[in-house]
Amino acid sequence: MNKDVFSIAIDGPSGAGKSTIAKETAKRLGIIYVDTGAMYRAMGLKTIRAGINADDVESVCSILDGTDVTIEFRDGVQHVLLDNEDVSDVIRTQEVSNAASKVSAIPQVREKMVQLQRKIAEDKTVVMDGRDIGTNVLPGARYKFFVTASPEQRTSRRYRELKQNGKLNGMTFNELLIEMIQRDERDSKRECNPLKKAADAILIDTTYMNIEQATEALLNKVAD
Ligand code: C5P
Repeated sequence: MNKDVFSIAIDGPSGAGKSTIAKETAKRLGIIYVDTGAMYRAMGLKTIRAGINADDVESVCSILDGTDVTIEFRDGVQHVLLDNEDVSDVIRTQEVSNAASKVSAIPQVREKMVQLQRKIAEDKTVVMDGRDIGTNVLPGARYKFFVTASPEQRTSRRYRELKQNGKLNGMTFNELLIEMIQRDERDSKRECNPLKKAADAILIDTTYMNIEQATEALLNKVAD
Protein backbone atom coordinates (compact mmCIF):
# COMPACT_ATOMS: atom_id res chain seq x y z
CA MET A 1 0.00 0.00 0.00
CA ASN A 2 1.43 3.34 -1.06
CA LYS A 3 1.33 5.68 1.94
CA ASP A 4 1.11 8.77 -0.28
CA VAL A 5 -2.28 7.50 -1.43
CA PHE A 6 -5.14 8.49 0.84
CA SER A 7 -8.91 8.70 0.80
CA ILE A 8 -11.52 11.23 1.82
CA ALA A 9 -14.88 9.61 2.63
CA ILE A 10 -18.06 11.67 2.45
CA ASP A 11 -21.35 10.12 3.51
CA GLY A 12 -24.81 11.52 4.06
CA PRO A 13 -28.40 11.51 2.81
CA SER A 14 -29.37 12.62 -0.68
CA GLY A 15 -29.53 16.33 -1.46
CA ALA A 16 -27.20 17.30 1.39
CA GLY A 17 -24.68 18.66 -1.11
CA LYS A 18 -22.20 15.76 -0.90
CA SER A 19 -21.51 15.41 -4.60
CA THR A 20 -21.07 19.14 -5.24
CA ILE A 21 -18.73 19.43 -2.24
CA ALA A 22 -16.85 16.28 -3.29
CA LYS A 23 -16.44 17.51 -6.88
CA GLU A 24 -15.12 20.88 -5.72
CA THR A 25 -12.78 19.19 -3.23
CA ALA A 26 -11.45 16.91 -5.98
CA LYS A 27 -10.85 19.91 -8.24
CA ARG A 28 -9.04 21.94 -5.59
CA LEU A 29 -6.86 19.05 -4.42
CA GLY A 30 -6.29 17.63 -7.92
CA ILE A 31 -7.60 14.20 -6.93
CA ILE A 32 -10.28 11.88 -8.30
CA TYR A 33 -13.94 12.09 -7.33
CA VAL A 34 -15.74 8.75 -7.09
CA ASP A 35 -19.53 8.90 -7.03
CA THR A 36 -20.62 5.49 -5.67
CA GLY A 37 -24.35 6.31 -5.95
CA ALA A 38 -23.94 6.20 -9.75
CA MET A 39 -23.07 2.49 -9.53
CA TYR A 40 -26.27 1.66 -7.61
CA ARG A 41 -28.18 3.89 -10.03
CA ALA A 42 -26.78 1.90 -12.99
CA MET A 43 -28.00 -1.31 -11.34
CA GLY A 44 -31.37 0.33 -10.66
CA LEU A 45 -31.61 1.33 -14.33
CA LYS A 46 -30.87 -2.25 -15.35
CA THR A 47 -33.83 -3.55 -13.30
CA ILE A 48 -36.16 -0.93 -14.87
CA ARG A 49 -35.03 -1.89 -18.36
CA ALA A 50 -35.36 -5.59 -17.57
CA GLY A 51 -38.88 -5.02 -16.25
CA ILE A 52 -37.86 -6.34 -12.82
CA ASN A 53 -39.16 -4.93 -9.56
CA ALA A 54 -36.10 -3.53 -7.75
CA ASP A 55 -37.51 -4.94 -4.48
CA ASP A 56 -37.56 -8.47 -5.83
CA VAL A 57 -34.33 -9.89 -4.39
CA GLU A 58 -34.46 -13.17 -6.30
CA SER A 59 -35.01 -11.56 -9.70
CA VAL A 60 -32.39 -8.86 -9.11
CA CYS A 61 -29.85 -11.50 -8.03
CA SER A 62 -30.64 -13.56 -11.12
CA ILE A 63 -29.43 -10.75 -13.43
CA LEU A 64 -26.55 -9.59 -11.22
CA ASP A 65 -23.84 -11.89 -12.61
CA GLY A 66 -24.71 -10.95 -16.17
CA THR A 67 -24.60 -7.23 -15.40
CA ASP A 68 -21.45 -5.29 -15.97
CA VAL A 69 -21.09 -2.01 -14.08
CA THR A 70 -17.78 -0.25 -14.62
CA ILE A 71 -16.33 3.16 -14.01
CA GLU A 72 -14.10 5.14 -16.33
CA PHE A 73 -12.42 8.46 -15.74
CA ARG A 74 -12.16 10.81 -18.72
CA ASP A 75 -10.38 14.11 -18.07
CA GLY A 76 -10.81 13.34 -14.39
CA VAL A 77 -14.60 13.01 -14.73
CA GLN A 78 -16.31 9.78 -13.78
CA HIS A 79 -18.44 7.96 -16.34
CA VAL A 80 -20.51 4.96 -15.35
CA LEU A 81 -20.93 2.18 -17.89
CA LEU A 82 -23.77 -0.33 -17.78
CA ASP A 83 -23.01 -3.32 -20.01
CA ASN A 84 -20.60 -1.07 -21.94
CA GLU A 85 -23.12 1.76 -22.47
CA ASP A 86 -22.36 5.14 -20.91
CA VAL A 87 -25.43 5.78 -18.72
CA SER A 88 -23.98 8.71 -16.71
CA ASP A 89 -26.79 11.01 -17.79
CA VAL A 90 -29.84 8.74 -17.96
CA ILE A 91 -29.40 7.54 -14.35
CA ARG A 92 -30.29 10.99 -12.98
CA THR A 93 -34.09 10.59 -12.96
CA GLN A 94 -36.29 10.20 -9.89
CA GLU A 95 -37.44 6.78 -11.12
CA VAL A 96 -33.84 5.58 -11.15
CA SER A 97 -33.19 7.17 -7.70
CA ASN A 98 -35.95 5.02 -6.23
CA ALA A 99 -34.85 1.84 -7.99
CA ALA A 100 -31.24 2.48 -6.86
CA SER A 101 -32.33 2.86 -3.26
CA LYS A 102 -34.19 -0.47 -3.47
CA VAL A 103 -31.45 -2.52 -5.15
CA SER A 104 -28.84 -1.05 -2.83
CA ALA A 105 -30.53 -2.80 0.12
CA ILE A 106 -29.68 -6.20 -1.43
CA PRO A 107 -26.43 -7.57 0.12
CA GLN A 108 -25.29 -9.31 -3.11
CA VAL A 109 -25.61 -6.03 -5.03
CA ARG A 110 -23.66 -4.18 -2.35
CA GLU A 111 -20.92 -6.79 -2.33
CA LYS A 112 -20.35 -6.38 -6.06
CA MET A 113 -20.31 -2.56 -5.94
CA VAL A 114 -18.15 -2.34 -2.79
CA GLN A 115 -15.49 -4.56 -4.39
CA LEU A 116 -15.33 -2.18 -7.34
CA GLN A 117 -15.19 0.89 -5.06
CA ARG A 118 -12.34 -0.53 -2.94
CA LYS A 119 -10.39 -1.43 -6.07
CA ILE A 120 -10.60 2.15 -7.38
CA ALA A 121 -9.32 3.57 -4.08
CA GLU A 122 -6.53 1.01 -3.76
CA ASP A 123 -3.91 2.88 -5.75
CA LYS A 124 -5.39 6.36 -6.17
CA THR A 125 -6.03 9.30 -3.88
CA VAL A 126 -9.77 9.79 -4.01
CA VAL A 127 -12.65 11.65 -2.52
CA MET A 128 -15.49 9.13 -2.51
CA ASP A 129 -19.08 9.87 -1.62
CA GLY A 130 -21.96 7.57 -0.74
CA ARG A 131 -23.79 6.19 2.28
CA ASP A 132 -21.35 3.67 3.79
CA ILE A 133 -17.92 4.86 2.67
CA GLY A 134 -16.56 5.79 6.11
CA THR A 135 -18.27 2.89 7.89
CA ASN A 136 -17.75 0.04 5.43
CA VAL A 137 -16.09 0.69 2.06
CA LEU A 138 -13.03 2.58 3.30
CA PRO A 139 -13.07 2.35 7.11
CA GLY A 140 -9.39 3.34 7.09
CA ALA A 141 -9.99 6.58 5.13
CA ARG A 142 -7.70 9.34 6.37
CA TYR A 143 -10.57 11.87 6.45
CA LYS A 144 -14.23 11.15 7.03
CA PHE A 145 -17.18 13.52 6.79
CA PHE A 146 -20.89 13.16 7.28
CA VAL A 147 -22.74 15.85 5.33
CA THR A 148 -26.39 16.46 6.10
CA ALA A 149 -29.17 19.10 5.98
CA SER A 150 -32.86 19.33 6.85
CA PRO A 151 -35.22 17.25 4.64
CA GLU A 152 -36.91 20.46 3.38
CA GLN A 153 -33.61 22.04 2.37
CA ARG A 154 -32.45 18.82 0.69
CA THR A 155 -35.74 18.49 -1.21
CA SER A 156 -35.56 22.08 -2.33
CA ARG A 157 -32.06 21.53 -3.78
CA ARG A 158 -33.12 18.32 -5.51
CA TYR A 159 -36.25 20.04 -6.87
CA ARG A 160 -34.17 22.82 -8.38
CA GLU A 161 -31.67 20.36 -9.87
CA LEU A 162 -34.37 18.17 -11.47
CA LYS A 163 -36.15 21.24 -12.82
CA GLN A 164 -32.94 22.68 -14.27
CA ASN A 165 -32.18 19.41 -16.02
CA GLY A 166 -35.72 18.97 -17.31
CA LYS A 167 -36.12 15.77 -15.26
CA LEU A 168 -38.91 16.85 -12.88
CA ASN A 169 -41.60 15.04 -14.90
CA GLY A 170 -44.42 17.04 -13.30
CA MET A 171 -43.55 16.13 -9.70
CA THR A 172 -44.55 18.62 -7.01
CA PHE A 173 -42.31 19.72 -4.14
CA ASN A 174 -44.43 17.74 -1.67
CA GLU A 175 -44.29 14.55 -3.71
CA LEU A 176 -40.54 14.90 -3.90
CA LEU A 177 -40.31 15.55 -0.14
CA ILE A 178 -42.28 12.37 0.60
CA GLU A 179 -40.05 10.31 -1.73
CA MET A 180 -36.95 11.85 -0.15
CA ILE A 181 -38.12 10.89 3.35
CA GLN A 182 -38.98 7.36 2.20
CA ARG A 183 -35.58 6.97 0.55
CA ASP A 184 -33.80 8.23 3.71
CA GLU A 185 -35.75 5.72 5.78
CA ARG A 186 -34.91 2.86 3.46
CA ASP A 187 -31.22 3.85 3.31
CA SER A 188 -30.82 4.24 7.07
CA LYS A 189 -32.95 1.30 8.19
CA ARG A 190 -31.66 -1.40 5.85
CA GLU A 191 -29.76 -4.22 7.52
CA CYS A 192 -26.76 -4.25 5.22
CA ASN A 193 -24.43 -1.24 5.62
CA PRO A 194 -27.07 1.40 6.34
CA LEU A 195 -26.54 5.13 6.00
CA LYS A 196 -24.85 6.04 9.26
CA LYS A 197 -22.30 8.53 10.50
CA ALA A 198 -18.98 6.80 11.27
CA ALA A 199 -17.97 7.41 14.88
CA ASP A 200 -14.84 9.24 13.69
CA ALA A 201 -16.54 11.27 10.93
CA ILE A 202 -16.81 15.06 11.15
CA LEU A 203 -20.38 16.32 10.87
CA ILE A 204 -21.11 19.14 8.40
CA ASP A 205 -24.70 20.43 8.45
CA THR A 206 -25.33 22.40 5.26
CA THR A 207 -28.90 23.56 6.04
CA TYR A 208 -27.75 27.15 6.47
CA MET A 209 -24.56 26.97 4.42
CA ASN A 210 -23.91 27.42 0.75
CA ILE A 211 -21.68 24.98 -1.10
CA GLU A 212 -18.60 27.24 -0.92
CA GLN A 213 -18.90 27.50 2.86
CA ALA A 214 -19.39 23.74 3.21
CA THR A 215 -16.43 23.00 0.94
CA GLU A 216 -14.27 25.42 2.94
CA ALA A 217 -15.33 23.70 6.17
CA LEU A 218 -14.21 20.37 4.74
CA LEU A 219 -10.96 21.62 3.21
CA ASN A 220 -10.00 23.32 6.47
CA LYS A 221 -10.09 19.94 8.18
CA VAL A 222 -8.06 18.29 5.42
CA ALA A 223 -5.43 21.03 5.70
CA ASP A 224 -5.21 20.65 9.51
O1 C5P B 1 -26.04 9.26 -3.98
P1 C5P B 1 -27.20 8.89 -4.86
O2 C5P B 1 -28.46 9.60 -4.54
O3 C5P B 1 -26.86 8.96 -6.31
O4 C5P B 1 -27.45 7.33 -4.55
C1 C5P B 1 -28.55 6.63 -5.06
C2 C5P B 1 -28.93 5.53 -4.08
O5 C5P B 1 -27.88 4.56 -4.03
C3 C5P B 1 -29.11 6.00 -2.63
O6 C5P B 1 -30.43 6.36 -2.32
C4 C5P B 1 -28.68 4.80 -1.82
O7 C5P B 1 -29.78 3.95 -1.60
C5 C5P B 1 -27.73 4.06 -2.72
N1 C5P B 1 -26.34 4.18 -2.26
C6 C5P B 1 -25.89 3.30 -1.31
N2 C5P B 1 -24.60 3.31 -0.92
C7 C5P B 1 -23.74 4.19 -1.46
C8 C5P B 1 -24.18 5.12 -2.43
C9 C5P B 1 -25.51 5.10 -2.80
O8 C5P B 1 -26.67 2.51 -0.78
N3 C5P B 1 -22.46 4.13 -1.09
